[in-house]
Amino acid sequence: MPLVGCAAGALGSLAKRRVAVIGCGSVGGRVALLASRMGLGGLVLVDPKRLKAGGLATHDMGPEDVGKPKALVTARRCSRINPAMQVLAFVQAVEALELSVLAGVDLVVMAPDLLAVEIEVGQRCIWLSKPLVHASVHGPTLTAQVRFFLNAKGAGGCPACGYGKAEQDLMTRQVRFSCEGAAGAVVPLPDTVPATNSVSPLCAQAAALAVMQAIRFLVPVGQPVADTMLEYCGFTHRTVVSPITRNPNCMLDHNAIVQVALDPPLGDLSLAQVAQQATGAPPSADARFELEGLQWVELASCRCPEPRPVRRFVARGRKRLPCCRKCSAPLVPLNFYTYPQVSASVLGSAAERPLRDLGARGLTSLLLRTGDAGVLIRQSTPH
Ligand SMILES: [Zn+2]
Ligand SMILES: [Zn+2]
Repeated sequence: MPLVGCAAGALGSLAKRRVAVIGCGSVGGRVALLASRMGLGGLVLVDPKRLKAGGLATHDMGPEDVGKPKALVTARRCSRINPAMQVLAFVQAVEALELSVLAGVDLVVMAPDLLAVEIEVGQRCIWLSKPLVHASVHGPTLTAQVRFFLNAKGAGGCPACGYGKAEQDLMTRQVRFSCEGAAGAVVPLPDTVPATNSVSPLCAQAAALAVMQAIRFLVPVGQPVADTMLEYCGFTHRTVVSPITRNPNCMLDHNAIVQVALDPPLGDLSLAQVAQQATGAPPSADARFELEGLQWVELASCRCPEPRPVRRFVARGRKRLPCCRKCSAPLVPLNFYTYPQVSASVLGSAAERPLRDLGARGLTSLLLRTGDAGVLIRQSTPH
């Protein structure tokens, strides 16, 4: 389809683009479906929750989907709409998602119902210098809001830049702004919970506006959308576009991390070599390493009187290790001696050993942090 002011086939460039959608509910689920129809190359869907019967009032779903994970239901429908598109679904909280997943997309759209998720995604997108579209609805005022954060290095606002004390209080209380079951809610919401449940057409409107902003940025077409807030009011059909600015007192870390691709298999290198190749210097004493999907286990317990040293990387969440050679009981990692982020001082001489000898043979990415600075190191080609 030709677009005024664009080269013929401008929309065809979307086939090379990948988009992540965080939160596949009444807004995010529709974002994914609309994006699929635009001929995107890839879609990453993240949502830990399952569809509820009450969601029929607001979500784009059928009764047959009740009880199924939102991310999987959405992924299946998107794949049917656009079989050429690569779709990855993660039924997990965004906090548990590896940083490299979002590093591989061109743009992130989020429509979560928790302030804590907004913060988490906002922070990750700043670190990765990733454009972020935040779609939300406010039911009582029939307002749909779409904020576009460009996250260009060192500039622009983030979701938390606009937070006042009220939002910070809500965040510490983990309040959910849900569109689930608005129509069929049997138990009235307590007064302390803001009534942000909304109606289905407003959710659809927010999703459509979010996808339009994403397309305008990715193609690109029309007026620039970077660092703007677009608001639509269902009472008046008015839209207002206003700039988003940076709050110097923002609670988030506004420093982007550097991304480096290394050619040799990471498993063949030691962490000291990885740091040297990625940054041009050996790791400093305060350097911390976060390996994708792995954590460092220093000590484990068994039936022996003393904790046993393990000093290896182990899959995150793994509760049992091979049995102790002395007492033959299974080794259980000790919480206080298990590190998702391990410092060079804890690693000691292990920082000089090849990663494959430390339980990290197939590693494809890791995060190196020194002070406030971060480097995301990825393997450039699969081996
Ligand atoms: Zn900020
Ligand atoms: Zn033992």
